[in-house]
Amino acid sequence: MKYISTRGQARELDFDQALLAGLAEDGGLYVPQFWPQFSAHDLSAMAGLSYAELALRVMQPLVGTAIDPTTLKRLIDEAYGSFDHVAVTPLVQLDHQNWLLELFHGPTLAFKDVALQLVGRLFDHVLTQRKERVNILVATSGDTGSAAIHAIKGREAANIFVLHPRGRTSEIQRRQMTTVQEANVHNIAIEGTFDDCQTLVKAMFNHGYFRARARLSGMNSINWARVMPQIVYYFHTVLALGGGLRPVNFSVPTGNFGDIYAAYAAKRMGLPVNRMLIATNNNDILARTLATGEYKLGEVHPTLSPSMDIQVSSNFERLLFEANSRDAERVTAQMGSLPQSGSFTLSPGAHDYITGQFSAYRVDEATTLNEITRTFKETGMQIDPHTAVGRAAARRYTHEPQIPMVTLATAHPAKFPDPVEKATGIRPQLPPRYGDLLRLPERCTPLANELATVEAFIEAKIQ
Ligand SMILES: *Cc1c(COP(=O)(O)O)cnc(C)c1O
Repeated sequence: MKYISTRGQARELDFDQALLAGLAEDGGLYVPQFWPQFSAHDLSAMAGLSYAELALRVMQPLVGTAIDPTTLKRLIDEAYGSFDHVAVTPLVQLDHQNWLLELFHGPTLAFKDVALQLVGRLFDHVLTQRKERVNILVATSGDTGSAAIHAIKGREAANIFVLHPRGRTSEIQRRQMTTVQEANVHNIAIEGTFDDCQTLVKAMFNHGYFRARARLSGMNSINWARVMPQIVYYFHTVLALGGGLRPVNFSVPTGNFGDIYAAYAAKRMGLPVNRMLIATNNNDILARTLATGEYKLGEVHPTLSPSMDIQVSSNFERLLFEANSRDAERVTAQMGSLPQSGSFTLSPGAHDYITGQFSAYRVDEATTLNEITRTFKETGMQIDPHTAVGRAAARRYTHEPQIPMVTLATAHPAKFPDPVEKATGIRPQLPPRYGDLLRLPERCTPLANELATVEAFIEAKIQ
């Protein structure tokens, strides 16, 4: 399989090259040159496979010859062996029509583990084969940093440096990063905001001399290798609910559009995914885009669901590419106008293409809290605020009552204990395997919000 850029000016790459590159040289995002196809017959033959077996079947054609099947199987087995549920992503029924897909059984209790547990191992394998080492640099407001640390800790071919804003993550999120003792993990607490952390990381990547000297690499959510493993749980769900033949609707709490784009990819590969609901919090750029046809940047509003507090939905560019019939020139012009004018307008054809398959809902803070309360009263289950945004969107979609609706549960409620306790009166508890998280010693270096200081720290560590 070859990977091509949504902006059409970068070299075609194999899977392993796209993995290490992340962003394409022309500023675009890598997508597969064509969508592998699974027929109804292929889908029926997948019934009864374990999660790891299914993952191999779905991802093999996307990886192509870049990694041999025996190695890929071993990496998949190891990645999903780190989950604390045998089904890896179990489905829980809420009522006759509604299900929750629990994506939080990995090491850091949020859905990013599903992709990163595999991506960390893929990085390590590809780099070791090439006899290369890299230093991975990540800015985080909480979830991505901990998932990346748990994916890279103890690996041979990479160190990881994670910048978080000092005092601005939840205690659980911070401790999931700082209590990791492996020597290749470095936590830096920046005196500033998440935006400051992101600005520092971007500046280091743009600082050519430092970037080369420190052999910097990224793992952010625009990397194709982070999208690919998410396709698998859509197959897993549709197979479980109707043997792969019955259509299913999905409601997906959305920020950077990676998770819901994986649903679209599954659909393009032949899976009967019906409607996809883009569930957003007050940061509603996508809900506005679907309503008006104009993609227009706004300000970032802090919410109860912080992992969806974004201004730009980076992976939307991949859908835009498809909605424009893979016309890279048009995508380049539209994305190019964002920095200057802060907006672009979808062509009528692209707008129809998107609204024909996706619906979008904005869920405000009061509705989010109310949804946590309501789900608790109806089912006795506590859901986290991100999941609540998804459930509230699912309730608003009142069409097709005969089609199952699956809401993605993207984080464990104990990861966001304060709003969950406020809404249900009970403080959600961490699963037993995390029992000592609040007692373990922490490792973290506070640094000033200064490029030179952070670069000097990293240089000293990688000597
Ligand atoms: C990252 C994240 C999301 C948003 O996923 P995208 O792929 O960025 O749309 C939703 N919920 C949680 C808990 C997350 O960590």
